[in-house]
Amino acid sequence: MTEALVQVRDLRKWFPVKQGFLAALTGEERQYVRAVDGVSFDIRKGEVFGLAGESGSGKSTVGRLVLRLLEPTDGSVVFDGVDLAGLSAEEMRKLRHRMQVVFQDPLASLNPRMTIGEAIEHPARIHMPQLSPEERRALVLRMLEQVGMVPPEFFYSKYPHQISGGQRQRIVFARGMITAPDLIVADEPIAMADVSVRALLLDLMMQLKDEFDLTYLFITHDLATAKYVCDRIAVMYLGKIVEVGPLEDVYTNPQHPYTRALLDAVPVPDPLHRRTEPLPAGEIPNPINPPSGCRFHPRCPIAQEGICDGEIPPLLPVAGNPEHRAACFLRTGEYQHLDPLR
Ligand code: SF4
Repeated sequence: MTEALVQVRDLRKWFPVKQGFLAALTGEERQYVRAVDGVSFDIRKGEVFGLAGESGSGKSTVGRLVLRLLEPTDGSVVFDGVDLAGLSAEEMRKLRHRMQVVFQDPLASLNPRMTIGEAIEHPARIHMPQLSPEERRALVLRMLEQVGMVPPEFFYSKYPHQISGGQRQRIVFARGMITAPDLIVADEPIAMADVSVRALLLDLMMQLKDEFDLTYLFITHDLATAKYVCDRIAVMYLGKIVEVGPLEDVYTNPQHPYTRALLDAVPVPDPLHRRTEPLPAGEIPNPINPPSGCRFHPRCPIAQEGICDGEIPPLLPVAGNPEHRAACFLRTGEYQHLDPLR
């Protein structure tokens, strides 16, 4: 099995809810939004590891924790054998060029007062002080070419508002790549791009992965997109991973009812099979007071009273495959005989 580049263990991020003056005065217990609540996974060198779920599942918070843009409440992130929690700000700064991020909104990620050349060059100025200005410019021009912005000299002095949305996302990728990172956290990288350029951006991502030997954490709400690029995928629900495994296994043999619902909700390009209802039904519950037991039980079509609302289901192997795990009593545990889907 390929070595892990990132090891995430029992990661938690609880955000304190702002307390009113009266609540603080009366000593009311502080409340927390449990955005990430005990998440563990490995990202192997050279793979695209997907993290999928609805908005509010905690997937983007995990991305920020992996990059240590946020401090965890508990748990650890080990990057290439180094526990990030033990690093000083200076040590973290030195490591940061090896882990970069691409966010979904390229316009918000780019400084409107910087030319494209300056924007791409910026991380090189910080992390590669050994380069002369001429060497940095040559590197920027090479990166522009790598992401298909040709002729590079033409785009070098343009401003973000002078190019298209798809081109801006290419610039964000070029900026992320300039320090030759090992890991890219791509957080909904194509969500704001026109449908017409999404496939091109995904192709670019995969081309950069091969050329630069990259590893990706690919965060998305869209299982159709994840299918296009991921090697393995974890599905998150309300701060927890509910299913994880090789893409092929999870897509062809989904075990958790939430994964099934998400896959059922992927649009089918066939007018004879139009779906009338979005799935899964209902809203994500409040992460301040998540449901007891399995957090999915208020929305789960096969929930069993007395089983699903008690304990939290552990993430266990399914179908005898240690690589494919799900957190559902009826799919993995002693209650399998009650599973109506079997
Ligand atoms: Fe549904 Fe129960 Fe499985 Fe949770 S543990 S997903 S509520 S069947």
